[in-house]
Amino acid sequence: TKTIRPLLAGNWKMNGTRASLDQIKAIGDGVKTPLSDKIDTLLCPPATLLYVATALCDDSPLAIGAQDCHQQVSGPHTGDISAEMIADCFGTHVIVGHSERRRNHAESDMLVRAKAHAAHEAGLTAIICLGETAYEHNSGQTLDVLKRELASSVPDDSTAESTVIAYEPVWAIGSGLIPTRENIEEAHGFIRSELVERFGNGGAGMRILYGGSVSGANARDLLDIPNVNGLLVGGQSLKAVDFLAIYAAF
Ligand code: PEP
Repeated sequence: TKTIRPLLAGNWKMNGTRASLDQIKAIGDGVKTPLSDKIDTLLCPPATLLYVATALCDDSPLAIGAQDCHQQVSGPHTGDISAEMIADCFGTHVIVGHSERRRNHAESDMLVRAKAHAAHEAGLTAIICLGETAYEHNSGQTLDVLKRELASSVPDDSTAESTVIAYEPVWAIGSGLIPTRENIEEAHGFIRSELVERFGNGGAGMRILYGGSVSGANARDLLDIPNVNGLLVGGQSLKAVDFLAIYAAF
């Protein structure tokens, strides 16, 4: 599976104003290296910066994506943005089902699946997030949770090109805590086998990212783990210097 082209993705969450555009520009410029022939890079700023970010990174291999989308194309959904709107801003990816959305907005597996399908319809790559809570981890339910989330959140039309899976243990996000190498290897191996069972070759080629307290200090070790095909980074994607240190670890 290490022949899969890796992906480094950054998620700015609800951070970033126009004053942060210099960081986006610096990341875009920083990934213009020979390494960009081997890995894909993506940054997901808040929706307010999407259009200007894609323009700023026009001449960079850095792709720009969004952090969420509505499951419908348009309509009476105040405050929401559609996958079509993201594509219209030249965004190419969208994160769906992040644990913060599942928790703070009560997003169900079925809603996440509908959002991923909407992303596919708009020609976007969906980055579908899953992962267990601390309670589920401590009570040995991790693989059960992953099985359920994969079955329910990943749409039938998913392909290796249109879909990325991000394994993000909820308790590892923003906490500085990271699962053991064995835990990550087991989770990613399980996700891989479920994807292959359901999607065949498509599942074999689908990228599985690890996310949760990734930094320049641990990126290399994480990327060594079988079936870790890239990283989804929160806090350490905000500053170009930190994000580019992770990029350099690939
Ligand atoms: C995330 O929320 O996607 C994430 C991985 O956050 P952090 O890197 O800050 O733990």
